[in-house]
Amino acid sequence: MHKTTMQKQAIYDDLAGIAGAKSVLADERMDRHTLFRIGGPADFFVMPEDELSLTKVLHYCTERGIPSYIMGNGSNLLVMDTGFRGVIIQLWKNFGSFQVQGTSIQARCGAMLSALSRAAQEHALTGLEFASGIPGTLGGAAVMNAGAYGGEFKDVAQKVRVLDPKEGIRELSCEQMQFGYRTSAAAANGYIILGADLHLEEGDPDQIKSRMEELKEARTSKQPLELPSAGSTFKRPQGYFAGKLIMDAGLRGYRVGGAMVSPKHCGFVVNAGNATCADVLTLMKDVRSRVYQSFGVWLEPEVKLLGESWDVIFQ
Ligand SMILES: Cc1cc2nc3c(=O)[nH]c(=O)nc-3n(C[C@H](O)[C@H](O)[C@H](O)COP(=O)(O)OP(=O)(O)OC[C@H]3O[C@@H](n4cnc5c(N)ncnc54)[C@H](O)[C@@H]3O)c2cc1C
Repeated sequence: MHKTTMQKQAIYDDLAGIAGAKSVLADERMDRHTLFRIGGPADFFVMPEDELSLTKVLHYCTERGIPSYIMGNGSNLLVMDTGFRGVIIQLWKNFGSFQVQGTSIQARCGAMLSALSRAAQEHALTGLEFASGIPGTLGGAAVMNAGAYGGEFKDVAQKVRVLDPKEGIRELSCEQMQFGYRTSAAAANGYIILGADLHLEEGDPDQIKSRMEELKEARTSKQPLELPSAGSTFKRPQGYFAGKLIMDAGLRGYRVGGAMVSPKHCGFVVNAGNATCADVLTLMKDVRSRVYQSFGVWLEPEVKLLGESWDVIFQ
């Protein structure tokens, strides 16, 4: 529901009172906060300074019936051109600290995977090499069970600290997190990831470094990192590769407005210049039906859509 200017001002004042004026932005364009560089304005964009402030903002939203959405680095997000009617809460730099202790790393949810893998390498710890090129936070990786090149978040997670909307702060074991392919109990139950303990193994820093460089080279040569995107657009269907199905359906370089199936890697939809969310959604619908017509496989999005549900888009 659209709010009047006075209602919005009142909510802004309340949020600024709770989180501090510097931490609250109104009508904030989401193309500034997503790696896809797409998205209309969020009514409010809040960057809480700590867990207490986060809890208060969530409590405020729940009490007033204001929708809220948690994000990290925005590397897996596609935001509608109309934006988001509610409060987006970004857990990133203010929640970015971590410490290495023996073979463990205790990290808060905003820690970047790149920084964690670098620190692991510097401390001669192996296990996080796979994550060095994933441009997201620990929180995003935990909720999605992010993975690459044979490694997944679940392989290194020992325990995860979550804010359960029903039961408050809880520490969950790897089993309780029920990690699956790009999903977890956190995704299913709306838990907010606050941090995690990662368990790594002792290794040789030179070997770890060279593996990280090898993976970097693999990404740079195969993925369209020079253009904005949200990573792999579709999940890998069982027994297939999404990118190969899209390529074999003749869609390499297929364009709708500024959105394009990357000619370098058909698994990526890229923003080739001023793409709107509507461009991306039309392109994704076209890709889905062409792949289905050709191979009888429905591709499911890996990218998270904010502001509308996929069921509505694909109906
Ligand atoms: C060029 C490129 C390459 C990529 N390569 C890979 C890859 O190899 N493997 C891979 O798995 N992914 C990849 N991705 C996708 C993305 O980087 C990962 O999914 C990453 O883990 C998302 O983290 P984020 O902090 O950016 O999350 P966001 O994009 O901000 O959010 C993603 C989802 O996580 C939720 N979320 C974020 N933080 C929290 C939190 N603290 N608590 C609860 N929910 C939270 C959001 O609500 C949203 O549903 C790639 C993306 C790009 C752009």
